[in-house]
Amino acid sequence: MKVPVDYIKNIILPNCNYDKKIAEAFVKIPRHYFVDEALHKLAYKDEALPIGFGQTISKPSIVAKMTSLLDPNPSDKILEIGTGSGFQAAILSRLVSEVFTVERISSLYLRASNNIRKLFINNVRFKIDNGKIGWEEHAPFDKIIVTAESQNLPNELIFQLKNKGKMVIPIKGILKVITKKNNSILEESVSECKFVKFIT
Ligand code: SAH
Repeated sequence: MKVPVDYIKNIILPNCNYDKKIAEAFVKIPRHYFVDEALHKLAYKDEALPIGFGQTISKPSIVAKMTSLLDPNPSDKILEIGTGSGFQAAILSRLVSEVFTVERISSLYLRASNNIRKLFINNVRFKIDNGKIGWEEHAPFDKIIVTAESQNLPNELIFQLKNKGKMVIPIKGILKVITKKNNSILEESVSECKFVKFIT
């Protein structure tokens, strides 16, 4: 199965601000690799799909949007909370230098790391843990992305963000961009969104 042109044109490009580098990452990372074979036919529709354990791979439009909001730079070190299928981590791996991703469900971690290995990606590191504590050994991060819906802004994650760093996080149904500047935290609401719950 090839990545369809219409998926890039109608779903990805309009949601990533027509950023060609980001769109290129979606061409190189086939979304059907990250779902069960029975769901391959649905992989290039703008739908969240089940990945087991009550979790989902996010809609491609929201992955494109969150990736674009992170404003990925080639030298960035990024922390993702909520590995899930590994798709978002794989997309980021094509755009930045290092990706660290944390998942609390070990079976999902296993499948995600296999998917990523099959694509010969070697700049993603995985950890099984509660993501609310971040990944201290590798902090601080240029950017942090949380792909499960939180009830608040986790303190530890703010702490592990570099000065002038950015965090993209859904809080109570609203997608937010958080920017850390010296000792202040700027919070911008982007749009409504729907995610599986962040388990604390
Ligand atoms: N980024 C994923 C989307 C996964 S859905 C993808 O591209 O497929 C959100 C994931 O967050 C789920 O796998 C869920 O198990 C995980 N999650 C929820 N709460 C968490 C927590 N506190 N720590 C780590 N992972 C968490």
